[in-house]
Amino acid sequence: MEHVGSVLKELGEGKLPSSDDNIKIYEKSLTTSEHTKLLMINDHKAKYLLAAGEGELYDALEGDTVNDLGKVCPLSHANRLVLNRYFDYTVPRAFGTKAATMGLGDRLGLASPGHIETVRNRRVKPILAQQSIRELTLTNRTMNDMLDAAAFAVFQEGYKDGYGADGDHIKTEEDIKYALGLGVSMLTLDCSDQIQKKYESATEEEIRSDYDALDEATKSHYKEAYLNKTCHLDGLEITFDEVTLMKNVLLYGDAITYMAHVYDAYISKLDRDFDFEISIDETETITTPSQHFFVANELKLRHVAVASLAPRFCGEFQKGIDYIGDLEQFEKELCEHAQIAAYFGYKLSIHSGSDKFSVFPIIAKYTNGVLHVKTAGTNWLEAVRVVAQANPELYRRMHAYALEHVDEALKYYHITPDFEAIKPLDCAADSELTEYMDDDNARQLIHVTYGLLLTAKDVDGRFLFKDEFFQTLDDEEDTYRAALVSHIGRHVDMLDL
Ligand code: ZN
Repeated sequence: MEHVGSVLKELGEGKLPSSDDNIKIYEKSLTTSEHTKLLMINDHKAKYLLAAGEGELYDALEGDTVNDLGKVCPLSHANRLVLNRYFDYTVPRAFGTKAATMGLGDRLGLASPGHIETVRNRRVKPILAQQSIRELTLTNRTMNDMLDAAAFAVFQEGYKDGYGADGDHIKTEEDIKYALGLGVSMLTLDCSDQIQKKYESATEEEIRSDYDALDEATKSHYKEAYLNKTCHLDGLEITFDEVTLMKNVLLYGDAITYMAHVYDAYISKLDRDFDFEISIDETETITTPSQHFFVANELKLRHVAVASLAPRFCGEFQKGIDYIGDLEQFEKELCEHAQIAAYFGYKLSIHSGSDKFSVFPIIAKYTNGVLHVKTAGTNWLEAVRVVAQANPELYRRMHAYALEHVDEALKYYHITPDFEAIKPLDCAADSELTEYMDDDNARQLIHVTYGLLLTAKDVDGRFLFKDEFFQTLDDEEDTYRAALVSHIGRHVDMLDL
């Protein structure tokens, strides 16, 4: 603690201490509030918030007092809540329908500083906290861990331009209540359980007979609102014939009822601005522009205010690799989806948006700087790339473990790689290991096995990789930050944000 003592002393004297071999100083975190000075540091084992001075803020922070010089405070949940009370910019906020936003999920709780540097002074706001329940479960993290990491990153970087927190791909009311209670500023409602997928492949006979069974009031509403009517949207015409209408009602009726219920019961009751996103993308079949229009129009009729909506686009948006599919068809449909979103006044949302470099120019062309793009695992792949460079031996063990256990991960993800085609580890020199992160098959292997790798333990209950992985990334903090600024920066550039 002797090193911390001298840093605290300088902080108390109103100086900005400088980094040395023992303690790294995050200069942008230096903050004065009333009679308290705060500074974030890293002693190469953990990060701490140092507090010097006196007053309510000083007293509210939990930590160890060092020789009357000040306090060394852990980055605990309680201390995050204190920062939230005193510094508005550390609280997640909504951005509405006019600003571009980018979901930058951080599976490790380490990527946000690099993400912040990437979007600083760009035309896009970061949704720094964005993890699905699935991702949190697979990595043994909680939603509070995720929110704490984002808030501390914002404080560390002195980033005051605002950030969001997304309760991502939430399905159940229990999870909705939980996420809202923790203070998320955005919720992505995953309606895949309510979309009646069986009607995708149903025959006309089946569709007619199931539709007939609906009650008369429902049927007459749909008939009056849509049947043989043409909606004109700035160059795009949408018409519903009888069977298309019936199929849309059967496919999406229950989902729309659920969306409206969630909005009425929870979202509309919040006493803060909020970004409500509707996700109908987690299905096997693509959302046609007419289906998108139908869902959007029903939400409007039910007075559901939507900030963004994610359809399932044609082609494949697999994790961690570029778009697979017909670019011409994608451009035609993306243009129509974008027109529909603009017509209803919300943002088009693109999920699994990382690494889709071949379609970014098309997306940029039709969304005109107003969209939401989600990325999640690509920052994990960049972290693995840093480890492959700095700690080849650890990378080799992780790679071998991933190959051995990937079948367990495949039940959660739809991907179509050829693992047989991955170059055998014993044919790769240490200096070539980072090339695995340029190979689509190896990228997908590592992309989906993150949960297994980060939670794997030996017979004595010690982590096989996690502790060493985090230590390596801490040692290589600046390299990791630079890698994110370059890789995520390429996304932002190509989306013209
Ligand atoms: Zn999705």
